[in-house]
Amino acid sequence: MIRTDIIVLGAGVVGVSTALHLQKRGRSVALVDRRGVAEETSYGNTGIIQREGVVPYPFPRNPWLIGKYALNLLPESNLHWSAVPNIAPWLYRYWRASTPAGIAATARAMWPLIERCVAEHETLMLDAGIAGVVRRTGYLRVYRSPQALAAARAKDEADRIAYGVKFEAADAGALEPHLKGELAGATLMPEPVSVADPGGVVRAYASLFEERGGRVVRGDAQTLKRVAGAWSVDAAEEPIEAPAVVVAMGPWSDDAFRQLGYRFPLGVKRGYHMHFKPVGNAALSRPVIDAENGYVLTPMLRGIRLTTGVEFALRDAPATPVQLDRAEPLARQIFPLGERVDAHPWLGRRPCLPDMLPIVGHTARHEGLWFNFGHHHLGFTLGPVTGRLLAEMMTGEAPFTDPAPYRADRFHERW
Ligand SMILES: Cc1cc2nc3c(=O)[nH]c(=O)nc-3n(C[C@H](O)[C@H](O)[C@H](O)COP(=O)(O)OP(=O)(O)OC[C@H]3O[C@@H](n4cnc5c(N)ncnc54)[C@H](O)[C@@H]3O)c2cc1C
Repeated sequence: MIRTDIIVLGAGVVGVSTALHLQKRGRSVALVDRRGVAEETSYGNTGIIQREGVVPYPFPRNPWLIGKYALNLLPESNLHWSAVPNIAPWLYRYWRASTPAGIAATARAMWPLIERCVAEHETLMLDAGIAGVVRRTGYLRVYRSPQALAAARAKDEADRIAYGVKFEAADAGALEPHLKGELAGATLMPEPVSVADPGGVVRAYASLFEERGGRVVRGDAQTLKRVAGAWSVDAAEEPIEAPAVVVAMGPWSDDAFRQLGYRFPLGVKRGYHMHFKPVGNAALSRPVIDAENGYVLTPMLRGIRLTTGVEFALRDAPATPVQLDRAEPLARQIFPLGERVDAHPWLGRRPCLPDMLPIVGHTARHEGLWFNFGHHHLGFTLGPVTGRLLAEMMTGEAPFTDPAPYRADRFHERW
């Protein structure tokens, strides 16, 4: 039996960051995952640390647009109709939270996290010896039609006034000379930064955690139980026991909390990626978003990574990468993509709560049970900052911001 102060379940960016922050505060921590570090969602994302990401991605309210999404007419979204009976209650809550007032409330709650997201990553990167991996080139949104560009500019201006989100009208060809095709214009978001290997960043954080004496252990969170006032989990070699446990399993967090009687409305927005070789010496120096088609081209270690928009489906349904097939010819119109690199598309799952905020905190029901999950489109961005917040709460330090907006009981769940 391994005895430790805290067990962290899930070795994605959220779990690893939480473990590091707890360790910094003098706690012994075992980080448990059924796979290796950052082999799931934290591996395959777009790698943007979204310093501009205050305003969340809401559910559309325009009936015309909802109809197009429902009929799978737009490349940015794909709906499994067979999943609707299961996901309808979650979709309904997401729709209800996506009013202008709901979006504004979420944006206000996001602000203190977003404000620190780059700085918190940079601290961990410096400690992990990978400070040089950050690309300070922002990201570029390109527009094909003047109407879409004008509408986006109006929204950017509103977000600038309301939340101070910076944007710049940009010359796409000057910033990215290998972009091609008829583009109506582009917007540079200068504050976000990006990396060419988000999984590698998380693995470097995990190595730092191990160098400092932390344990990374294979184990299944579904074996979590309460034994004689402590939490225990079966791990590969021997069980681990601790007075406190953190559920940080992203889209699988319900596999741990459901067995304890919690019914948080956690859904997933799935997404895919594929790497492509660029043709000749074609290159990008920042992520490029094809704004009207909802996919991103990002320069990564393995090539140009095309990441798709969202797929509404059951978490564990077989992959249906139709969005990649729709996006690929569109991407070839704006950038000289060569052949596909990966044998199969990668499938990831964004862990999403209806109000587009994570749960960071605990409940009164179970002593020593803490949560850090539901980071939706921004888990890579928010892992270090929410890891710090939770560690401060768990160790009795004054939290850097009021954690109330992220509390677990905001959904008034019964157990
Ligand atoms: C296509 C796409 C693009 C994205 N782009 C960005 C971006 O540019 N910027 C950004 O900030 N975010 C982005 N995201 C979102 C981001 O990737 C996620 O929010 C984030 O990775 C979630 O991290 P996590 O640690 O909560 O979950 P994960 O990384 O999924 O980690 C969960 C861990 O739990 C483990 N686990 C599951 N079940 C068990 C079990 N029973 N026992 C033990 N362990 C278990 C898994 O093996 C996994 O390691 C993107 C997501 C997608 C899909």
